[in-house]
Amino acid sequence: MTEPEPAAPAVPASRPVLAVVGRPNVGKSTLVNRILGRREAVVQDTPGVTRDRVSYDAVWNGREFVVVDTGGWASDADGMAARIAEQAELAIGAADAVLFVVDATVGTLDEDEAVVRVLRRSKKPVVLAANKVDDPRAEAEAAAMWNLGLGEPYAVSALHGRGSGDLLDAVLEALPPAPPESFEEVRGPLRVAIVGKPNVGKSSLLNKLAGAERSVVDNASGTTVDPVDELVELDGRTYQFVDTAGIRRRVKEASGHEYYASLRTQGAIERAEICVMVIDAAETVSDQDLRILTSVVEAGKGLVLVFNKWDLTDDERRYYLAREVEKDLQTYWWAPRVNLSALSGRHVDRLGKAIEEAYSGWEQRISTGKLNAFLGRLVAAHPHPVRGGKQPRILFGTQAQAGPPTFILFTTGDLDPQYLRYVERRLREEFGFPGTPIHLQVRARE
Ligand code: GDP
Ligand code: GDP
Repeated sequence: MTEPEPAAPAVPASRPVLAVVGRPNVGKSTLVNRILGRREAVVQDTPGVTRDRVSYDAVWNGREFVVVDTGGWASDADGMAARIAEQAELAIGAADAVLFVVDATVGTLDEDEAVVRVLRRSKKPVVLAANKVDDPRAEAEAAAMWNLGLGEPYAVSALHGRGSGDLLDAVLEALPPAPPESFEEVRGPLRVAIVGKPNVGKSSLLNKLAGAERSVVDNASGTTVDPVDELVELDGRTYQFVDTAGIRRRVKEASGHEYYASLRTQGAIERAEICVMVIDAAETVSDQDLRILTSVVEAGKGLVLVFNKWDLTDDERRYYLAREVEKDLQTYWWAPRVNLSALSGRHVDRLGKAIEEAYSGWEQRISTGKLNAFLGRLVAAHPHPVRGGKQPRILFGTQAQAGPPTFILFTTGDLDPQYLRYVERRLREEFGFPGTPIHLQVRARE
């Protein structure tokens, strides 16, 4: 699924990205090690060897962010200012803030100037690190870096750690503010919408879930009797079922009702995190069912499939239903499915677990390290086919947000839709993501 821009996230849950740029040998990788506070095999002394990992999860003063290390990218490009600038541009485009590293002992070269031009154009917040200031005598050289016009140069020694605390404080200031702590703290109970075409049993299901067999008021006059939402407890957890008045109120006889019904459905989908899609198991899966499912997935909501009226199905009907599911609902194979009877209550108790499962997938996060290790294996085992003499390559990826899981892939060119579907399928095989659409965005280097 390629979405140019995903719907506004329910929670601004993304970790900000810091790109570390600069010409080769200024100490970017050493500084990244310093930021990560551990010795990983980031520094690579063999020129021309491309490292398979370029992004790392970092934390400073409790604030999590992603560090993209461009140190390995230009190792074969000695002296080529244009190439270095090009590499930097890609990383800068993906970043929320940039850590620009210069070598204070050498001063600024053409290659540095090329990166500075890219930085100016990008208008991203920049923190300037004047590296290799191993002792106080070199401070004056660091101060000379004011002439780059990028603000205060932070004198650091990536090798010995000197000045790195102040530098990281400045980095945190440059990054966007921290998101709220957790979903429930911000939003209260998980919001669930029961959706489906008329007469599939939505209000019967709601009645069963709410525990009380309420008489459905035939309320064609449109008076709102029920509150709009209802709090329902399932397996000890409280859910907010949204727009239940719309389900309970029956205005099926009014003219134009289908239009209003679909507007209401859309509204309920937008307000919810998880949608419970009710399908009448006794009837052929219809276009109207498929349209509602498309709306759920396009809105980026979690999805549970309910096949209701199971009591009305016999062996023959179940046989044909399985065929219909295979034919029309294959795209939603990842959605938890519950066959139940709202009328008798049979298996209604399975719904809570299915909603939880969909929510876990919807909120799932993959660390940048794990994601890139996975992408490295994927690209090695199954490279993108050559297109017009070129072979687009995934350079690295990051999960920009959850709810729904949204990934940004940084590539050397546009990816075929089939290849994106392959990436999505492999992501699911590797990490699960039950009950949720996955959004993949591609940022191709021009
Ligand atoms: P990159 O190409 O920008 O990633 O640079 P590296 O991190 O690979 O560092 C290049 C060289 O500079 C290595 O030999 C590092 O040991 C050295 N280096 C990095 N930081 C410092 C520093 O703060 N002081 C000194 N003296 N050497 C450093
Ligand atoms: P809604 O329009 O989707 O809210 O559907 P309703 O809940 O009003 O149900 C439509 C009709 O289907 C009613 O006559 C219900 O009694 C019937 N119904 C709902 N669930 C079931 C079920 O599980 N089995 C059977 N046999 N009938 C059901």
